[in-house]
Amino acid sequence: MDIRQVKAYGAASASAPLEEITINRRAVQPHDVEFEILYCGICHSDLHQVKDDFGGTMWPIVPGHELLGRVTMVGNHVKDFKPGDLVGVGCIVDSCGHCEYCDEGIEQFCEEGVTFSFNSVDQVLGGHTYGGFSKTYVCDEKYVLRMPAFEDLAAAAPLLCAGITVYSPLKHWGAGPGKKVGILGIGGLGHLAIKIAKAMGAEVTVFTTSPAKVDDAKRLGADHAVLSSDEEQIATYNRQLHFIIDTVSAKHDVNMYLNLLRHDGTVVLVGLPPQPLEIGAFNVVMGRRSFAGSNIGGIAETQEMLDFCFQHGITADSEIIPIQDVNDAFELLEKGDVKYRFVIDMSSL
Ligand code: NAP
Ligand code: ZN
Repeated sequence: MDIRQVKAYGAASASAPLEEITINRRAVQPHDVEFEILYCGICHSDLHQVKDDFGGTMWPIVPGHELLGRVTMVGNHVKDFKPGDLVGVGCIVDSCGHCEYCDEGIEQFCEEGVTFSFNSVDQVLGGHTYGGFSKTYVCDEKYVLRMPAFEDLAAAAPLLCAGITVYSPLKHWGAGPGKKVGILGIGGLGHLAIKIAKAMGAEVTVFTTSPAKVDDAKRLGADHAVLSSDEEQIATYNRQLHFIIDTVSAKHDVNMYLNLLRHDGTVVLVGLPPQPLEIGAFNVVMGRRSFAGSNIGGIAETQEMLDFCFQHGITADSEIIPIQDVNDAFELLEKGDVKYRFVIDMSSL
């Protein structure tokens, strides 16, 4: 298969910094879309995988799975995209296309295994997939999203992972008028969860470890914001919330939050702490409560989320950086010191 050499930023090992490298991308195949990457968001999952938090990272790793760009070339069977179109790619770039899950539009659970935009086995080219910290991307048109005409394109890029990861469970668990929704952690995912849950009509309460974010949460639209060290105030929410989206990236105690659920309520984990979490039996047995999880969202739902966010004027609060600052940005992200998503301006590469 023909290949093209592309400039990218990658790391050679968990202890190496990200630096400029050259990667191979496949030449455009009949069903492929190729695009120039304009902006790429930085998700905590990029950081987890660069640090090899879950094991199994394939080196060199080129992270990035919130890619927004402009189409440069399409294969001769592609009907829905043309050069110049504004497009996005999130986490999913391939799946079997015929299992029960793919048929249902939840390709993220594909029985034969989904291919992610980075750090996945590349079914077409061999080797592994390289993400959006690079100049261009190529994938099958089925996994390409159409970007609405957001005024601030950089701020729209984080919707492609952070946005769908919270939109999907908010919708699944029924965020809307009359529903009291909790959000744990105000990072990239958490701040978009506040905006999206509010746009869906829910009453939103956020819990944060950062004193500086308590007031800011109100600016983001939260109805109530509570410092998670203030156990007295937290207890006033006991048995109040219908469900909670937990976006915390590190090990934490979920038991206090299970107690904030009404009967039949659910804590939905989307954060990926590398260590197991412990759950006290009585915190779920009493009140028939659930502890659940959710993983990104399918392609059709991602398109629905983009259109929803465009309609409601929702984008991420973003700090734009050149690619040369990416190692510093990872350090700040590790400390939770970002308001609220770093986005790389790829023209810097
Ligand atoms: P992020 O921007 O770093 O936000 C995480 C937030 O969690 C922090 O801002 C902080 O919020 C809180 N936090 C961090 N360490 C904590 C600790 N030790 N105890 C309590 N709270 C803590 O990360 P993100 O990009 O939003 O991603 C969040 C998590 O979701 C990551 O683990 C990521 O890998 C995962 N993720 C999962 C999916 C999925 O499909 N399930 C998709 C994308 C990302 P406060 O300062 O407000 O406390
Ligand atoms: Zn992500």
